[in-house]
Amino acid sequence: MEDLQRVILVHYHEIGLKGHNRSKFEKRLVRNLEALLTDYPLVTIHRISGRLIVFLKEGCEKDVAFECARFISRVPGVARVSCGFKCERDMDAMGGIAKLALAEAAPFESFKVSARRAHTDFPIDSMQMNRDIGAVLCEANPDASVKMKNPDVTVGVEVVQNAVYIYAFSIPGIGGLPVGVSGKVVCLLSSGIDSPVALWRMARRGARCFAVHFSGSPETSDTSEYLVQDIADVLDEYGCISDVYIVSFGEYQKEIALSCPPELRVILYRRLMFKVAAAIAARIGAGALVTGESLGQVASQTLANIQCTDAAVSLPVFRPLIGTGKQEIIYEAQELGTFKISTEDAPDCCTLFMPRNPETHGKLSVVEEAESVLDEDEWIERILSEVRIVKYPKR
Ligand code: ATP
Ligand code: MG
Repeated sequence: MEDLQRVILVHYHEIGLKGHNRSKFEKRLVRNLEALLTDYPLVTIHRISGRLIVFLKEGCEKDVAFECARFISRVPGVARVSCGFKCERDMDAMGGIAKLALAEAAPFESFKVSARRAHTDFPIDSMQMNRDIGAVLCEANPDASVKMKNPDVTVGVEVVQNAVYIYAFSIPGIGGLPVGVSGKVVCLLSSGIDSPVALWRMARRGARCFAVHFSGSPETSDTSEYLVQDIADVLDEYGCISDVYIVSFGEYQKEIALSCPPELRVILYRRLMFKVAAAIAARIGAGALVTGESLGQVASQTLANIQCTDAAVSLPVFRPLIGTGKQEIIYEAQELGTFKISTEDAPDCCTLFMPRNPETHGKLSVVEEAESVLDEDEWIERILSEVRIVKYPKR
């Protein structure tokens, strides 16, 4: 038994659809997994027709393999993950390994065998393999039934040139595309509930997400800076975040509060945030900004105000949550593991010097007029020279 070679099969249907880009995507997913799986006993990762095979070290325990599979299922680009074994191309050996794989996938009441051969140099076709291995499994599991449609467990048999891979335990992955295949973006990351979810959704579409956080420091405590780093640590676990830029924003907000009409403060803060984010984007070669805004959720998130803030920059601004309700966002934040951190108390720089009646229908000409008294170009330069950069990935 000791010389059993445990493997994890990683399936990725979306990548399969991408034609000539496929190899680039597969290579990226391999690289991402290699970087993320350093805590697991990995030997190597291979590509075989339409799947990745993660080879685990000899003697790797079942529980470790299953835990590793669960981890992999949360990495962007992974559609499904299965645990199994490498086996020689011999029908008796394959039957034995199939029994073992199926036993590890218990409990189940029904199953089927789904065999594939990548090369016709193996003399037995897939239908025959299904029947023969199915017969072995029926004998070993007399209480279970064979079910072609929606069985509890599907035993996969993949015959390739020099080996066979057999697996039964499978779990769905989060899907999407591997981080790094869709270019870079700069995400405005508060310590609130929404923006970490927005960032994660972009990462799941393959974007490399850099983040910028504005704290009310020195006018408020710097608690939010630490919460944002805790949030980034969670995102980092599955390779979803790159460097985090932390800006002490309080003194600029104070300047705005002193020089501009109170009702425009929030819009002006947000326009300055966008300009700083765009300057960072220019520095690192990012192609878009991302926010966690959701239409109508708070006073500032009206169409008129969104127009006013977008007009501050020429980059596209993505809002992955614009049509998502709060409850759904909360659910996603809980799944992601950032919700608890986001509900911890920290002063929010947006509420610093909050006017009694913030403008909800900002007019661009009025906003630009008010802004013209500020020396924002000089501020942005200063902000960039003083910004604190926390490096991710940490691994
Ligand atoms: P969140 O939960 O993401 O903070 P919110 O519902 O509190 O969102 P706002 O505070 O109006 O809404 O912020 C809208 C978006 O602006 C945020 O999702 C985030 O992208 C960005 N933003 C707000 N405050 C900050 C900040 N202090 N630093 C960086 N980005 C911010
Ligand atoms: Mg907020």
